Amino acid sequence: MTNSQKTFMRQAIDLAKNGMLAGNGGPFGCVIVKDGAIIGQGSNMVLRTNDPTAHAEVVAIREACKNLNHFQLEGCEVYTSCEPCPMCLGAIFWARPAKVYYACTKEDAADAGFDDEFIYQEIEITPEKRQIPMIALMREESLKAFELWKEKGDKTLY
Ligand SMILES: [Zn+2]
Repeated sequence: MTNSQKTFMRQAIDLAKNGMLAGNGGPFGCVIVKDGAIIGQGSNMVLRTNDPTAHAEVVAIREACKNLNHFQLEGCEVYTSCEPCPMCLGAIFWARPAKVYYACTKEDAADAGFDDEFIYQEIEITPEKRQIPMIALMREESLKAFELWKEKGDKTLY
């Protein structure tokens, strides 16, 4: 662990503590670093913004991508105070940073009442059998959007 890694992670942990104490949401913080500088940061804002997707990593990714004016976090490092939940893990893979550092584990989070294990289990279950049933409808009609995408000449691939 380098001193700068320690500094960035400590900043993520401070965001976690301060955001929670301010009533913004759970005790989670995240900073995103590119070329040694912070380009995005966030704490959990679920309670403050009534947004169930406003996890620290998502808040930080949105800010970093806005600052980069790009939808990818190429060459970036993510420092998060806790191992990402499945939603944030997905967001991180879509954003494609180079590396993720995390402090607490998901077991630590579960111990504090933030258990995301059920989501990992739900992923394995057939969609219609999930606790929130997912029912397939109108596939043929919806496939037309994919056909248009495939034919689109000037598309940006991501
Ligand atoms: Zn999350």
